[in-house]
Amino acid sequence: MRVLSASILLDAWERCLDAPALLRASTLLASASDQSEGDPRQWPIATRDAALFDLREQLFGRSIEAIVACAKCGEHAELEFLVEDIRNGPSPSAPSSRHNKIRVVEVDGRRIRYRAPTSEDLLAIAGCSGVETARSMLIERCIKVADRRRQALSQAALERALELIAIDQAGADVEITFDCPACSHRWASPFDIAAFLWREVDDWARGMVRDIHLFASRYGWSEAEILSMSARRREQYRELLCE
Ligand SMILES: [Zn+2]
Repeated sequence: MRVLSASILLDAWERCLDAPALLRASTLLASASDQSEGDPRQWPIATRDAALFDLREQLFGRSIEAIVACAKCGEHAELEFLVEDIRNGPSPSAPSSRHNKIRVVEVDGRRIRYRAPTSEDLLAIAGCSGVETARSMLIERCIKVADRRRQALSQAALERALELIAIDQAGADVEITFDCPACSHRWASPFDIAAFLWREVDDWARGMVRDIHLFASRYGWSEAEILSMSARRREQYRELLCE
């Protein structure tokens, strides 16, 4: 994964604003990955999320802070944990493992070809009116007959293929367990690294644009000069201007 400069990250953020929300994380990854790794929108979700944890560490470090509301009493609690405490699935992956492999299995005497769902699949099913329609569309996109028989696959064969996909992608499911400080209720909540990292990048970019506006209008520095400064130095100038 390439190291993203502030300038490249700001360009990536701007491109993400024009992308559908479900493709923003992949658009960010496209800026940090090589062309040989393929289009991140077509990476399996588990692979995409593993790469997003890597990107998160590179951009903002290993420590994650989040505020959650208790599922029972609504009390807000602050949580702090490390990326390695919650990440599952493929660890920093070699470029060749990022491609979405087509797998072939035999179920009920039928040969089935299937692949893992991608960000593009999630976007395609997002507009479906119900869970069943979304499920049918996902099956249509990811599972194909691989033999010469003309009959459609049986329900049992489709269910088995879906199970295999779920096993392959199990690493994409990250859960965090919370203990409420107010009512002691314990519950687990999914952690969506794609949405979380996008919010962090969006906050960072909006802060950076404010800094550029402030320093350019007060000191006359160019955007490129301000982007090349360290965060610490920008903070010092910001404090001086606010005195
Ligand atoms: Zn509570």
